[in-house]
Amino acid sequence: MEKKLITAIYPGSFDPITLGHLDILKRASTLFDKVIIAIAINSEKKPLFSKKTRLKMIKDVTSNIPNIEVDNFTGLLVDYAKKKNAEVIIRGIRALSDYEYEFNMALINRSLEESITTTFLVAHQNYTHLSSSLVREVAGLGGDVSNLVPKNVIEELKRKLDAND
Ligand code: ADP
Repeated sequence: MEKKLITAIYPGSFDPITLGHLDILKRASTLFDKVIIAIAINSEKKPLFSKKTRLKMIKDVTSNIPNIEVDNFTGLLVDYAKKKNAEVIIRGIRALSDYEYEFNMALINRSLEESITTTFLVAHQNYTHLSSSLVREVAGLGGDVSNLVPKNVIEELKRKLDAND
């Protein structure tokens, strides 16, 4: 019998991508045949980084992982997942506080599309405190974020903050 290939989507804002996201992504890439990291474009949120810069930063840090694709989407995640023939949605769980929201989202997505399964991966303990909003805040106040984000993101943060001076 031919092996069925499984595509998973890892959606998020990734504003910017952090070492926590990267940890989840690396684990996912060993579990699934293909992982699409998909930037959710939400017209109600005003991101720090443009769609283009977020895509570029993610592409740079994932270029050495062969089964990862980087994309963006608008609208319903399950519609996008179907379009991409993905059967799995990946979300990272840092603490119990993430769980309630993620649990509801998983149920809503399942009620919208029964064939797509949400999978939770547990964040590495080094990164359980880490979020993109924390990175934006610390960097904005001039703090050191080198233990929190990949190198290329530090450069983009500097560029962004210098431009806003
Ligand atoms: P969203 O706005 O959809 O929550 P994020 O970019 O903040 O987008 O997060 C995308 C996914 O990555 C979510 O499932 C989130 O729980 C997970 N995540 C965020 N930060 C971390 C981290 N430090 N470790 C593991 N997973 C994380």
